[in-house]
Amino acid sequence: MMGVNDLPAAKAVTLHRPPARAEVPRGPWSVAAVQALLDKPFNDLLFEAQAVHRAHFPEGDIELATLLSVKTGGCPENCGYCPQAAEFDTGVKAQKLMEVDEVVRAAQAARDAGATRFCMGAAWRAPKDRDVEKVAVLVEAVKGLGLQTCATLGMLKPQHAQQLKAAGLDYYNHNLDTAPEYYGDIVDTRTYQDRLDTLAHVRAAGISVCCGGIVGMGETPVHRAGLIAQLANLDPYPESVPINSLVRVPGTPLADSDPIDPLDFVRMIAVARITMPKARVRLSAGRQQMGEAVQALCFLAGANSIFYGDKLLVTGNPDVEADVQLLRKLGLRARQTTEQGACA
Ligand code: SF4
Repeated sequence: MMGVNDLPAAKAVTLHRPPARAEVPRGPWSVAAVQALLDKPFNDLLFEAQAVHRAHFPEGDIELATLLSVKTGGCPENCGYCPQAAEFDTGVKAQKLMEVDEVVRAAQAARDAGATRFCMGAAWRAPKDRDVEKVAVLVEAVKGLGLQTCATLGMLKPQHAQQLKAAGLDYYNHNLDTAPEYYGDIVDTRTYQDRLDTLAHVRAAGISVCCGGIVGMGETPVHRAGLIAQLANLDPYPESVPINSLVRVPGTPLADSDPIDPLDFVRMIAVARITMPKARVRLSAGRQQMGEAVQALCFLAGANSIFYGDKLLVTGNPDVEADVQLLRKLGLRARQTTEQGACA
């Protein structure tokens, strides 16, 4: 009788193994190096991104973060993508800061729906002392529900960052938006350096950083590479990296921008994953326009966090039921823990 030893020897084949952890490319990242990644053949790029992803997130879960606008509209800044800027006629009505009870109810609902992080956004250029005191109360209340807390309030002074840290703030969101060279085309009421200064104050206070950008704002591929290089070269790079696809809101200066090619958006996710391997890369604004197939590609490219809930500040987002169905279809699990583990 023949056994396995009698079979002819197998021909030598080249196995395409994922790169070992030590082979993961490391920074600092030049714009050219990021551009070279963005330009890779699509399948090669996704293969590399997925390999990096699995090396750092073997559990393969998706973080669900809910974002609530706690103070809407009337902002004195002029970010060209934002319907909350006072100078743009977008129909967004300015509202005052929400009451603690209202915010707690929204946070409870988000937690009950499965979110583990609750982000509070306020349309300020920079909060005043009294604003920070009020937000600190919100942070304490939300933290008391067992949720991770995040806030995005505009530019922060060092003492404000320390106050928020003392209240229990886990993350502060402050996006770089785009490459430094293109920033002045998007907003001119503050500088790129202002953004970097706030990020430094947040870091110094011991708060984790949530920082990403927006694509589809008329930027060039080099600008996209420049944004990723900036983010990846922050030392350390952000723990959370939201990548947004512009939601073109009528009345904003960018309302008529050409939309980004969906596959180029997937490439941005992949390159964010490769250059910031331990970050939670968040598939953020623009999901409603993407459809399930593009979102599935983004998860394959290494996105492992989404904004979850029917609204993103003042623009739409896929409803909760649609997200639950999508994760189920893809066999993805929601992250259960609010611990900030080694990979978070
Ligand atoms: S993005 Fe923020 S800072 Fe800019 S206009 Fe909107 S609310 Fe103001």
